[in-house]
Amino acid sequence: MNGVVQGVGFRPFVYNLAKSMRLQGWVRNSSAGVDIEIEGSISELEFFISKLNDQAPPLSRIEEITTKWLPIQGFKSFEIVHSDNDPNAFVPISPDVTICEDCLFELFNPIDRRFRYPFINCTNCGPRFTIIKNIPYDRPFTTMSDFQMCPACAKEYTDPADRRFHAQPIACPECGPQIWLEYAGKVDRVAEKEEALHTARKMLIDGKILAIKGLGGFHLACDATNSEAVANLRQRKLRVDKPFALMMPDIASIREYCQLSGDEKSLLESLEHPIVIIDQVKDTGIASEVAPGQTSLGVMLPYTPLHTLLIEPGPNFPNALVMTSGNISEEPLAYSNEEARERLSSLADAFLLHDRDIFMRCDDSVVRALPDINRKSTSKVYPIRRGRGYSPYPVQVPWEMPAILATGAELKNTFCLSKNHYAFMSHHIGDLENYETLNSFEQGISHFQNLFRIQPEFVAYDLHPNYLSTRYALARSKAEGLPAYGIQHHHAHIAACMAENHLTSGEQVIGLAFDGTGYGTDGTIWGGEVLLASYKSFQRIYHLKSVGLPGGDLAIKEPWRMAISWLHSAGIHQDDSLPCCQGITQEQIEVMKSQIENQINVTPTSSMGRFFDAIAALIGVKQIVNYEAQAAIELESIADPDEKGLYRFEVKGGIIDPTEMIHQIIWDIRKRTPLEKISAIFHNSIAELTLFLCLDAKRNTGTNNVALSGGVWQNMSLLQQTLKLLKGKDFNVYVHRKVPTNDGGLALGQAVIAYHSMND
Ligand code: ZN
Ligand code: ZN
Ligand code: FE
Repeated sequence: MNGVVQGVGFRPFVYNLAKSMRLQGWVRNSSAGVDIEIEGSISELEFFISKLNDQAPPLSRIEEITTKWLPIQGFKSFEIVHSDNDPNAFVPISPDVTICEDCLFELFNPIDRRFRYPFINCTNCGPRFTIIKNIPYDRPFTTMSDFQMCPACAKEYTDPADRRFHAQPIACPECGPQIWLEYAGKVDRVAEKEEALHTARKMLIDGKILAIKGLGGFHLACDATNSEAVANLRQRKLRVDKPFALMMPDIASIREYCQLSGDEKSLLESLEHPIVIIDQVKDTGIASEVAPGQTSLGVMLPYTPLHTLLIEPGPNFPNALVMTSGNISEEPLAYSNEEARERLSSLADAFLLHDRDIFMRCDDSVVRALPDINRKSTSKVYPIRRGRGYSPYPVQVPWEMPAILATGAELKNTFCLSKNHYAFMSHHIGDLENYETLNSFEQGISHFQNLFRIQPEFVAYDLHPNYLSTRYALARSKAEGLPAYGIQHHHAHIAACMAENHLTSGEQVIGLAFDGTGYGTDGTIWGGEVLLASYKSFQRIYHLKSVGLPGGDLAIKEPWRMAISWLHSAGIHQDDSLPCCQGITQEQIEVMKSQIENQINVTPTSSMGRFFDAIAALIGVKQIVNYEAQAAIELESIADPDEKGLYRFEVKGGIIDPTEMIHQIIWDIRKRTPLEKISAIFHNSIAELTLFLCLDAKRNTGTNNVALSGGVWQNMSLLQQTLKLLKGKDFNVYVHRKVPTNDGGLALGQAVIAYHSMND
């Protein structure tokens, strides 16, 4: 039997089922899943198998049950026997699981022996992926191996009738991990256990910043309603504007600050407990420093017993805490006590630590709610960052794939290892620009290889020669003699969307790859692409007009440069009455113009993301940003939902030319049209443009399938409008549900394209 059947209470379930039917034999974890040998009459065994499917534990996912007849052994009882370790087989591993109702009840039950114990867990909940060192999933192969079970825990662990039977992280206050508090820069324990919790909460009330060790790493926490504390955290973390995630104790508190929809509520309460991005209610007491310039908040509910105790409602205790990853700017999050003391001492006033080691770091997942468009699935998840709760559960693909390592992109990196019909997408690794992240990328790959018993036979990589992930792939290809496949960035985006939607090998889509940056086959930067794509190949049928990206990366950080570039391309002389020309010296503009005219340090780009940046700068929303796409996000946040107007664009010879639109926008600026209206008309127009392109492509190719991928589709206003228009014309529209639409989903596309390329 295979699927997610280890670490989810499957053996005890089989044991109890067999016992209840008085059948004899054994069950064991194997590296291929779970093996059962059982004796009984044919009808009994058929009944047994049907029960396996119907009554499987909540966290398990059975994918396949294979049966075969064996000679009668004459078993006298039914037993759980020791695991068999086949070095070549592999099984999916459960992600970390949010605390369950039963454990929550015990946590607050004064007569329970685990009353207020921050590491309470059971067969249905607790850490998994982050504590597993090797398979099979048994206590000696986890970071819990250091803790010797006390007699009471050992009894529960070995009692098939107990709900903690074979719960590998089982622990109690007598024998398990403990928490304590340290002040930054000092190694002495200030307080332990309940007192540590109490002191930590008091410090939070007093506006202090705490580093808190959680499930997959450290968070930095402070009172989200205290402006001074949040501003202080921003300053220490060197994070100027990027929004901070929040944790709130319950749905009622979230409703106080957010306009919560039914879908969003169900995502917050789902097994995975991700961070959900939700529209904020204005002026409610969340410090404006939490998410500057944004109308939404990223919110999650507590997902471990420790978090539940920490954020428990109480006198003066804030009902919203900032819970941002424990790192400086874009470095990976800290995950060991040592590392945290070293890296976070300048950021936090104190550390709330514990002694259960995290073997694999894993960030919180971030999702948005997107109602189902095809009425096929019930999924409301639109992933933005895939981590805790989802990873490392694989994406299933409709082919038997060889072992391919796809190394992903540079920003928001994830990698992918494929085997059989599984694509094991890694958790969010981060931006591979710094040494620490590159390190965690390499460690992650070797851990996945080991955990899932995958030895890559092929590598797939992005065409961008300077991506560190590309260099890593090419170095491995050379060192190990592995065939390597270079995959175009936007083709990979579209293929990822196709694969997770289980489109078959022969199918073709109109792929709307609207993105920030990606290396094109002509050496320019693409990103406003409409591809006629199959897994095997693609044709670039339309693209946004290319303009100069002046100053390379500087143009990403300073959107006014993109605005000037688009003005130049539209034949408009810059003019001090335009917001994007204000605050910039004549000299700067002259330098840029000559750069563009003489093609010095200017790469042509058809990026849609940069076009959004340019419009944001042009109308005065944002000239300089502190994180990628900030200008576009702030442009979206001001759009007036009631505005229905449209700007004009031209599509000629496959090139989308917005010159006319730019003239109209400038006219609107001069007329002092409210920015909310200009932004809305701009969004409406891009949605209308996509419909026009799809209809035109359909006329020419007969294809009715449309796939949306690329970072620009994180823009929910644009996405929802586009979906409505496309569905209105009966297109089959595919969007991401399992991997992010941004570069975090790229590796999946790379792997499936490589697979299809090798069958030529
Ligand atoms: Zn539980
Ligand atoms: Zn114990
Ligand atoms: Fe991309």
